[in-house]
Amino acid sequence: MKKDAAKKKKTAHPVPVMRTAKRAGFCFGVKRAIDITFDIAEKDKRGVFTLGPIIHNPQVIEKLRLKGIFAIGPDDIGGKKIKDLIIRTHGIPKQLYDKISAGGFRVIDATCPFVKKAQHYAKLLKENGYQVVILGDIDHPEVKGLMSYAGEDVMVVNEHSPLEGLRSKVGIIVQTTQPVEALKKVLSRIIERTKEVKVYNTICNSTALRLKETEEMARKADVMVVVGGRNSANTTQLANLCRGLSVRTYHIETASEIRDEWFAGAKKVGITAGASTPDWLIIEVEKRIRDRGGETRNGH
Ligand code: SF4
Repeated sequence: MKKDAAKKKKTAHPVPVMRTAKRAGFCFGVKRAIDITFDIAEKDKRGVFTLGPIIHNPQVIEKLRLKGIFAIGPDDIGGKKIKDLIIRTHGIPKQLYDKISAGGFRVIDATCPFVKKAQHYAKLLKENGYQVVILGDIDHPEVKGLMSYAGEDVMVVNEHSPLEGLRSKVGIIVQTTQPVEALKKVLSRIIERTKEVKVYNTICNSTALRLKETEEMARKADVMVVVGGRNSANTTQLANLCRGLSVRTYHIETASEIRDEWFAGAKKVGITAGASTPDWLIIEVEKRIRDRGGETRNGH
């Protein structure tokens, strides 16, 4: 009787083909930071903190919390007994780095190496007499970190900024997640206003490739399931991209949110996930859809 009920449920809304994006889930920098953090969690059971949430994914944060690792802000540092403090992928401003380095505890720098490189270029440009221009979002933690290496006359711009106050010798660096089209536009406008321009293209192509793959998948799918934290900007961006292509799109955090009726009449289902979504959450989603009648063509 139980078996019959399960069979009936499985075939209620059959999902013939399900594909998972190859680039779904952690990018290189996030995987590195998470590996470092869980590695420490295995060894040091007390006094381990991350400076801000290590990742925008509530399920991972909860796993860390159960291991005794909590996020704290810069203002909380004085009131805690800290053994290890982990810096997240976006990096932090130099002044804060110097302050915590003198705090008497171990600082573990999980800043993504690509972001570190951009910080290095900001410093180099400043030392060589360039006015540093950062293409990016002034409110983003990565940009705040970059600014701290770039000197007092740093400018943060987007493709529409008026560019007032540019000097004649300018060095450009880019927030790692910016699209290359934005760099091209800004560069062409800066060239018209200056005598010397040096450009370090510090864009990380992980985000662009993920978006491209998701778009290609969504164009062929009847339903897109996007997995990742609701507070994750890049996961939300993926979901919005799919919705913009008029595909039935569901942004979920865990497999438990999946509903049978989502797949009614669907022939192709695509699964993608943001850079802060761990593999185990993606695998659970695949399994849940498969259990409801889906067939995997290219598993994650
Ligand atoms: S998106 Fe790129 S720059 Fe950002 S953390 Fe991931 S690998 Fe590093």
